Amino acid sequence: MTSHDASREPTGHLTTRCPACSAQLAYVPGTASMRCGSCGTEVTFTQGAASTGTGQAYDSWATQDAARVGGTSVTMRCEGCGAVTENDSMSTTCQFCASHLVALTGAPGMVAPDAVLPFAVTPAAAREKFRAWINHQFFGVKALKNINAEESLVGTYLPYWSVSATTESYFEGQRGVDHEEERSNGVKETVTHWYPRSGSVSGTYEDTFVPGKEVDLNLAVAIGGLKMKDFVAYRPEYLAGFSTARYDIDPANAVESAKSKIVNQIRGRVNSAIGGDHQKIENIQTAYSDVSFRLVLVPVWMATFVFGGKRWPILISGRTGSVYGKVPVNRFKMFVTTAAMFAVVVGGVLLAMKLFS
Ligand SMILES: [Zn+2]
Ligand SMILES: [Zn+2]
Repeated sequence: MTSHDASREPTGHLTTRCPACSAQLAYVPGTASMRCGSCGTEVTFTQGAASTGTGQAYDSWATQDAARVGGTSVTMRCEGCGAVTENDSMSTTCQFCASHLVALTGAPGMVAPDAVLPFAVTPAAAREKFRAWINHQFFGVKALKNINAEESLVGTYLPYWSVSATTESYFEGQRGVDHEEERSNGVKETVTHWYPRSGSVSGTYEDTFVPGKEVDLNLAVAIGGLKMKDFVAYRPEYLAGFSTARYDIDPANAVESAKSKIVNQIRGRVNSAIGGDHQKIENIQTAYSDVSFRLVLVPVWMATFVFGGKRWPILISGRTGSVYGKVPVNRFKMFVTTAAMFAVVVGGVLLAMKLFS
């Protein structure tokens, strides 16, 4: 084993050349090491806990950096073949010699990643998850079973923003209290009386995750379980052998979409503050302070297959192996099954009618 410190490399990108045989090193999922694909030599590195702070202050970014429209690409010189390429990924594979390229510095004006959720699912495990998933698609097209989309599974880190903020919200609304009232005819009836309520609620919202990139799939499900405590401090070694997409949703837009998620939680707090049996919210005015953000990287295995002239993206969590995606539906199979179920129901009804007549 060899120890390795990326910061000492003067090349502008991580050295991924095997110290023993000069072949390429790649990050080994679930470890703190890179392994040579040719001779198996392992290069370990120190894994650090994710920073405990909340990241970069949004206000200072907005006044200093928001106007700096940085180049979205970075120049990388391949250490394998010497090719100089403009990349808009943070890590990729050299298109000429397949060397692993990992940029050590971001494009100017771009926010650098703060934390990473390292891959835990190996390529073999991802292929297995994909195969199991496709085999369970009941209404799937039979030809799918022969599609080798798993051969084209690409391990990619996707950018996400983790946004934190403190809020103070002034609200106006109505508290509804139920009363039981007796009508003149003696019938009891529940009636809601409404009383105006106003006040303020404050809250601290840490680590609201929002996507940093537009992708084909709705990734809400994929980020549902993200917890900051699972992340580790960013190191470029985690990216070796994987591609890493740059964000195209900037901090300003990320903070806006985080706020729309936070607003839903504020409404819950306002409802509790209004109290009673029912609540009506007429107005909420929220002031945000201490807004901060950090860029984090989330691992996914992605594949896309083309069927019936359409692209079908599939995503496998690089952390849990859960598969997300849609498959083409075999309409004939669906029709036959639905018709059969309908026949069973109709048959049952007819039988019941006969038995009870
Ligand atoms: Zn080697
Ligand atoms: Zn190259």
